[in-house]
Amino acid sequence: MELVPRVDYLIQTDFLDHLGLWAHCQLLILICCKGKVALTSMIVVSHLKAKHDHKVTKQEKAKLDE
Ligand SMILES: [Zn+2]
Repeated sequence: MELVPRVDYLIQTDFLDHLGLWAHCQLLILICCKGKVALTSMIVVSHLKAKHDHKVTKQEKAKLDE
């Protein structure tokens, strides 16, 4: 994996927007827009629940794992 300067790696979709997240397409991490913290898909569910009171549904979880 190679990171190149000045390339926009952040992905934002309606789905991620709904969860308040951005995705980094090369590092395969999620970024919480509100807290500006990097999250792995493993901890994003507990983060959203603990910090933002957002319960991630099974369908949402499945989508995050894609
Ligand atoms: Zn957060």
